[in-house]
Amino acid sequence: MTDELLAVEGLESGYGQLQVLWGVELHLHEGETVVLLGSNGAGKTTLLKTLLGLICAWHGSIRFKGEEITHLPTDARVRRGIVYMSEMGVFPDLSIEDNLDIGTQFLPRHEAKERITGLYEIFPDLGHRRREAAGSLSGGQRKMLGVAKALAAKPHLLVMDEPSAGLSPLFVKEVVQVLAGFHRAPDLSLLIAEQNVTFLEIADRVYTLDGGRIGFNGSVGEARENDAIRRAYFGLK
Ligand code: ATP
Repeated sequence: MTDELLAVEGLESGYGQLQVLWGVELHLHEGETVVLLGSNGAGKTTLLKTLLGLICAWHGSIRFKGEEITHLPTDARVRRGIVYMSEMGVFPDLSIEDNLDIGTQFLPRHEAKERITGLYEIFPDLGHRRREAAGSLSGGQRKMLGVAKALAAKPHLLVMDEPSAGLSPLFVKEVVQVLAGFHRAPDLSLLIAEQNVTFLEIADRVYTLDGGRIGFNGSVGEARENDAIRRAYFGLK
């Protein structure tokens, strides 16, 4: 495989007295798409927020492109190319274009304009409605705006928190299709926290998180054959 982009070792964090993550090990290579499967309350959001510095790491280390970033502030991580897409993803009261502008806030101005023009080519519906409030979009379109806003930042690593949340199966497929267009792009890696196995279609590797601990780590083929994963996520006996 190619160079290592993200190396998480022995990571622990939580809220106040509540420890959520226990010795998490996770590695991601350049251009790779990794799906982190976990049920409600498994600690997916906590892990992603700790990667971004939105929650402090208690123990362990996070390295990005070989640099220790465990205790860097969030904006410094974003400037290095790690971008977080939350379940909400967009500001509903702002226009579509203002949302994308926010996405580009750390890019030089001339590059920001170019980036947004390029995104309107990928997401033409957003271009046509650029002056409208994000809140006027349907759930599926809003999610597309969330993806576009995250991509506007020109991430090297896009960290997505349950992109399927609140979407019908049809829209989930649309989101997966859009992301498939970026799969194996050499300068973009995806870490997708999900319970929805549709995202395995675009994954290179799979981790499971259970009670704040990494369980399974392997290829998509191995995940599909794993009895515990089949029972927990595919609803199979
Ligand atoms: P979900 O899909 O339900 O969000 P998740 O896998 O993302 O699940 P987390 O949101 O990381 O899980 O939650 C892990 C644990 O941390 C849960 O027990 C949850 O109740 C707890 N938790 C989450 N946020 C907070 C918070 N702000 N303060 C205290 N405990 C929290």
